[in-house]
Amino acid sequence: MDADVAFFARARADVLARIAAACARSGRDVAAVTLVAVSKTAPVDRVRAAIAAGLTVLGENRVQEAAGKVPVAPGAAWHLVGPLQSNKARRAVELFDAIETLDSVELAIRLDRLAGEVRPGRPLPVLLQVNVDADAAKAGFAPADAPGAVAAVLALPNLRLDGLMTIGRLAISPEDARATFRELRDLSDSLRALHPELGPELSMGMTDDFEVAVEEGATIVRVGRAIFGERPRAADAVADPR
Ligand SMILES: *Cc1c(COP(=O)(O)O)cnc(C)c1O
Repeated sequence: MDADVAFFARARADVLARIAAACARSGRDVAAVTLVAVSKTAPVDRVRAAIAAGLTVLGENRVQEAAGKVPVAPGAAWHLVGPLQSNKARRAVELFDAIETLDSVELAIRLDRLAGEVRPGRPLPVLLQVNVDADAAKAGFAPADAPGAVAAVLALPNLRLDGLMTIGRLAISPEDARATFRELRDLSDSLRALHPELGPELSMGMTDDFEVAVEEGATIVRVGRAIFGERPRAADAVADPR
């Protein structure tokens, strides 16, 4: 096996084992958790090796960067995990299999129109990003605005609202993020009581806190550094909203 592929097979196994342990601690089924490997800043040859190692759901946070990878790294599903500007929405719909960062109704309306053109008959999976902690540095709907947003997005025929997404607070200890994750799960429960068509997905948890997120009900974890290694600091300042 190619050295890079062996490296990623090991990294994948390690992260999956940690997810499985968190599931065991919280009485959850490990099959209910999807690992999204966040490949931002990783060069395309490493991305290809990651796919060959079985990391077949990948996350990117910039449309431009994804445009250089998605067409030349086949065999994976791609999630957008960064903020989406309206002028890049068409390209995003062409490239990505899911948009995890739906943060305005205006963007939803645009994505709905574009999805109807680019992929007719195949509604685009989206997650509503919620800014649980009202952090000024983060995008997403305030929890109080989520009910109206869910109703508006559910009315759009070319989008499929699979659930909610949040970014945990930047913290010293992973435990500090637990309250945020619990709030997102509670919000999902109350929204789904109102709107049964809202999907059950909860995308929460990154390298520093994904185990806590799984304990609190995450169905999607977005893990970058624990798989691809530390990112260059300068690149991260731009690429990572936290
Ligand atoms: C970069 C990023 C991740 C992955 O972060 P790591 O700390 O490297 O695991 C997850 N989600 C979002 C939204 C990101 O921007």
